[in-house]
Amino acid sequence: MDYEAVIGLEIHVQLNSETKMFCDCPNRPGDEPNQNTCPICLWLPGAIPKFSAEVLEKATLAALALNCEVQQLNAFDQKVYYYPDLPKGFQLSQAHKPLAKNGWVEITGEGGQPKKIGIHQAHMEEDVAKLVHETEGKTSISLVDFNRAGIPLVEIVSEPEIRTPQEAMEYIKALRAQIRYVGSAECSMEQGTMRVDANISIRPRGTNELNTKVEVKNMNSVHNVGDAIAYETIRQAECIKSGESIILHTRLWDPEKRVTLPMRGKFEGPCVPDPSVPQVAISAEWLDNIRSLLPEMPNRKAERFMNDYKLTRDEAVLMSSERDLSEYFEAVTGHNVPPRTAVHWIATQLLPALRDCDQTVTDTTVTPERLAGLLVMLERDEINAKSAREVLLKLFESDQSSEAIVKQFGFKQVSDTEALETIVDEILSANPQAIDDFKNGTAKALGFLIGQAMQASQGKANPKLVKELLMQRLQ
Ligand SMILES: [Zn+2]
Repeated sequence: MDYEAVIGLEIHVQLNSETKMFCDCPNRPGDEPNQNTCPICLWLPGAIPKFSAEVLEKATLAALALNCEVQQLNAFDQKVYYYPDLPKGFQLSQAHKPLAKNGWVEITGEGGQPKKIGIHQAHMEEDVAKLVHETEGKTSISLVDFNRAGIPLVEIVSEPEIRTPQEAMEYIKALRAQIRYVGSAECSMEQGTMRVDANISIRPRGTNELNTKVEVKNMNSVHNVGDAIAYETIRQAECIKSGESIILHTRLWDPEKRVTLPMRGKFEGPCVPDPSVPQVAISAEWLDNIRSLLPEMPNRKAERFMNDYKLTRDEAVLMSSERDLSEYFEAVTGHNVPPRTAVHWIATQLLPALRDCDQTVTDTTVTPERLAGLLVMLERDEINAKSAREVLLKLFESDQSSEAIVKQFGFKQVSDTEALETIVDEILSANPQAIDDFKNGTAKALGFLIGQAMQASQGKANPKLVKELLMQRLQ
């Protein structure tokens, strides 16, 4: 039988507010252990949580970025369970009255067509403390770090509308881009500011059954999520073929062995309304205010890039994929660089160079002004593309302008016709065979002659002019 997967994702995003969710301690979980704590986030008996207005704003912006309906009233519940990372015995979360419902994210589906993945709800939740397991001599010990206790999270629960590993990866990337755009969170799976759990079940293709699901955790990259879903889909199909039934449980993805392994039965504790945090009423006026803070979002920006700058869809999607990148691109075009030249150089030269030296478009020394200076010289034929690539690398090493680097290293393109004529004539007299080949119809002989001339000019000749001069003489 042919099976299809039914996949729902639960994504926890760590908000980048200044403080924790219910106290004034800094939201910096990576500091020295237990530095950022107070009676409220140590969960000492009698401490009363104070809900942060900043957290509510950041969470609401994230919900709006995901096209959710923000509810007029939301409230916190106690999700009850007992574990050393949660000594008070419950986690403040929102099960019954979530912040927002009924959102969606648009992805590119399997057939290349746009597909909307529904979001069931987005709710706020406090993070728990962190357990650190170590050994002292021969004794295993576990330590508790409360810096993470009370850090604000938004949990985004998708509808089970994802069908393939590819769609799951597209969904995570689209959701991440939307939330990063509004500036509520960094959303890095690698750094732990975004955690993804996948609920996976399978059913005969074409049916509407919803079968017992298995939850997979511990995936710390977008690719891990795709790999874990692919593995789990095949594993469940094999279980069913061998007559086993699927039972509800949690599995861990092992990135080394590239398999999912059973962890524990899935425990769902009771969820009861919390009496200490007042319900949160959201007025239409307040919500309009927050909505007015939304920036131009990636889809709309991509449309504008296609209309205003005549970019192809792929180029526009790439340049609008991150807010910082889109602002960098527009800053470069603002300095008289044709938009498509800017896209081409940012995508094929700048971004790989940034990756190599571990910089980003916001912290690089190659500012939009400096890159634009280089590209303007290229457009004016003052340097050729090969030299421009070398100048770009030198921009990373010095703080000089492109113009100064071109002058200092003699990159200026030779467009002086007389000087080039001399070179071309020398090349032609040294390569009679190539001339014969060209005249007998071997097109690549021309490429060879251009290459020779470029080499003779030490890469500085204007290649268009060289080609013109060669063609004149070969006619
Ligand atoms: Zn605190």
